[in-house]
Amino acid sequence: MSIFGPTEGFAAAFPDFPADLFIGGQWRPAASGRRIDVFDPSTGRRIIGIADASIEEGIAAVDAAHDAAQSWARTAPRRRSEILRRAYELMRDRVEWFAELIALENGKSLADARGEAHYAAEFFRWYAEEAVRVVGDLAVAPAGGNRMLVHYQPIGVSVLVTPWNFPAAMATRKIGPALAAGCTCVLKPATETPLTAYALAALLHEAGVPGGVVNVVTTSRSGAVVGAMLRDPRVRKLSFTGSTEVGRILLAEAAGQVVSCSMELGGNAPFIVFDDADHEAAIEGAMIAKMRNGGEACTAANRFYVQRASVDRFAEALAGHMSALVVGDARRAETQLGPLINGGARDKVGELVQDALARGARRLVGGGAVPGEGYYFSPVVLVDVPHDARVLNEEIFGPVAAIVAFDTEDEAIELANQTEYGLVAYLYTGDLARGLRVSERLEVGMVGLNRGLVSDPAAPFGGVKQSGLGREGGHHGLLEFMEAKYIATQW
Ligand code: NAD
Repeated sequence: MSIFGPTEGFAAAFPDFPADLFIGGQWRPAASGRRIDVFDPSTGRRIIGIADASIEEGIAAVDAAHDAAQSWARTAPRRRSEILRRAYELMRDRVEWFAELIALENGKSLADARGEAHYAAEFFRWYAEEAVRVVGDLAVAPAGGNRMLVHYQPIGVSVLVTPWNFPAAMATRKIGPALAAGCTCVLKPATETPLTAYALAALLHEAGVPGGVVNVVTTSRSGAVVGAMLRDPRVRKLSFTGSTEVGRILLAEAAGQVVSCSMELGGNAPFIVFDDADHEAAIEGAMIAKMRNGGEACTAANRFYVQRASVDRFAEALAGHMSALVVGDARRAETQLGPLINGGARDKVGELVQDALARGARRLVGGGAVPGEGYYFSPVVLVDVPHDARVLNEEIFGPVAAIVAFDTEDEAIELANQTEYGLVAYLYTGDLARGLRVSERLEVGMVGLNRGLVSDPAAPFGGVKQSGLGREGGHHGLLEFMEAKYIATQW
């Protein structure tokens, strides 16, 4: 059975799309028969109903992961590497298929979805390469007598929880390193975008991943099902990507069994432009940092701080680019900006704009919620935004740019750091010394220095403060799924 047919007219053309739970290498319907409806944000219409797992079915997935754990941990790294490489090749060959599916259930434009599918596949390639590069240490103890041997072992059964905004990449960014490290896992994707996760399960199965190594369960009771998994002593790792609010709940739940946690949480990224910056490059970077994924990204530029002499020119240029974007159905080729994920998201973005206007901000580009089918929101650019406006203090998650002027370098740094979040900051300047000096003082896990995009499977992605714990990508991402074992030796 192959699910990788044409995506046009999804449900009808996909009689074989399982839409069931994937446990122990088998597709199985939820025993209750309950299904969760999945909607197309471009039309608001139902696409398909997927299985709604119970707590028992969540634990059955942990059973399957546990049963497969020893054999997968013992599988030669070279073999694990080859399977991941095969997964990369299969996904690379089906980028268009995945792009269609992502655009359908998430609503991002096809161009964005294509970008995500490539990015997601690259995690399989990178971790295929990392699987055979796990190196330990051997040192002479400072006292001189004995030797200290350190080697890395798979941490064990891992629960992976992912958000809707990058349905493919957030899953492969976890599955890739987990499998490379020798861990088995249970993936619980967001109920808004489960189809991509199930398609990845089918692809990994085809690539040769043995049954039980990757399990996927969807549920309408995330809290109860994930909570039960975290109380199961066989689960040793939680890798979560989502909101800070849910991350806090899960950290508390993970404390019960002292489960190792990697948390990729929310952001409130500043985008700083100094007067000495290359204006064209700053605008180009601003459009990428703001509009990748239609603004629905944890890395999205949320607050634009522009030095006083450049602010009018920057705001006008950004307004020009934002208002020129073609808004429409995500799967139409000409669309540059698809809908937001659902009606609630559209209402929240609208409220943030209204709040800023009520507090005295000026609107350079109109836009706002578009009435009718689908959850469209055309771009808005705000200037003179007061510091207490919600738009500067909460994740916008939509196509709204809020611009504030600043005077000095110290002021820019102070403003940028005035948030509980610390994921990423962007900074444009023609003076490299200033760029590095400011980068060092920004309280973030990542800096885009004269770049509007930081994501790269080979780099450690993650935040400080309330944006999270741990790193994904690069060699760091592999170590999140491993434990160091120290063997004190005497010979
Ligand atoms: P969310 O926190 O609502 O949900 C994330 C996942 O957690 C989903 O699978 C959801 O079903 C599940 N979940 C919700 N409540 C739960 C509970 N009580 N127990 C267990 N699981 C639960 O986030 P979202 O709305 O899907 O995604 C948007 C958020 O994700 C934003 O805050 C964004 O910044 C963040 N995000 C962060 C990164 C990063 O790498 N730092 C990347 C993408 C998204």
